[in-house]
Amino acid sequence: MKIEVKELTKYFGEFKALENVNLDIVEGELLALLGPSGSGKTTLLRMIAGLETVDNIDKGEILFNNIDVSKKDIKDRDIGFVFQHYALFRHMTVFENIAFGLRIKPKKERLSNREIEQKVINLLKLIQLDGFTSRFPWQLSGGQRQRVALARALAVEPKVLLLDEPFGALDAKVRADLRRWLKELQEELGITTILVTHDQEEALEVANRVVVINRGKIEQIGTPEEVFHNPKNEFVINFLGNVN
Ligand code: ADP
Repeated sequence: MKIEVKELTKYFGEFKALENVNLDIVEGELLALLGPSGSGKTTLLRMIAGLETVDNIDKGEILFNNIDVSKKDIKDRDIGFVFQHYALFRHMTVFENIAFGLRIKPKKERLSNREIEQKVINLLKLIQLDGFTSRFPWQLSGGQRQRVALARALAVEPKVLLLDEPFGALDAKVRADLRRWLKELQEELGITTILVTHDQEEALEVANRVVVINRGKIEQIGTPEEVFHNPKNEFVINFLGNVN
């Protein structure tokens, strides 16, 4: 899926959360949104997801493969999510958590129980948690839980994967392992992915391109090398200060 954000401005009341954002996201790439807390990263992600809409006072468009979806419902967008605080269902097993999105599909698209089972088993292999089907979330480590959350997002075969600080709550070693693993998986599936992070190292390691956002505006877009070695302005230099 190709995604284009065109001249997007978003208000919350009087507050301008995004200002004239222009962004082309290439099919199959992993794009990282980097910026300080409160800079608008999550808002941009939520708008691409359709969790926030382009209202009358706002401006701009969001195109999915050339079609404007900014007024459409989230259901029409074919998206998988993993949010830091988007916890697994506690009363459901790993199997049921992953199968959830498949069970709520419209009748025409619904799979048989056998097909669902096969699919969940394949996904468990992919996230290297074979044999964990009947565990409950509290029986998993934090890293395992995030992998299950990712499998749940991937189960419906979305065209776009949106990740909001997916490894935020985990310790450094687990984060490093998970991001390497995520990168491999994302490349293998070729799924267009947007990752919100405040972790520069994470962006540097996994992203094809990085977007630096500040106060709702894009300061710089480029490959990690371009952004980290040729920061465009004072803000980017200061923000990335400790990396070079
Ligand atoms: P980030 O993800 O970069 O930390 P956010 O996109 O969450 O930043 O927030 C950007 C700004 O928009 C913040 O100042 C935040 O308080 C404000 N904001 C976000 N969502 C809302 C909302 N629903 N209502 C009012 N203000 C909001």
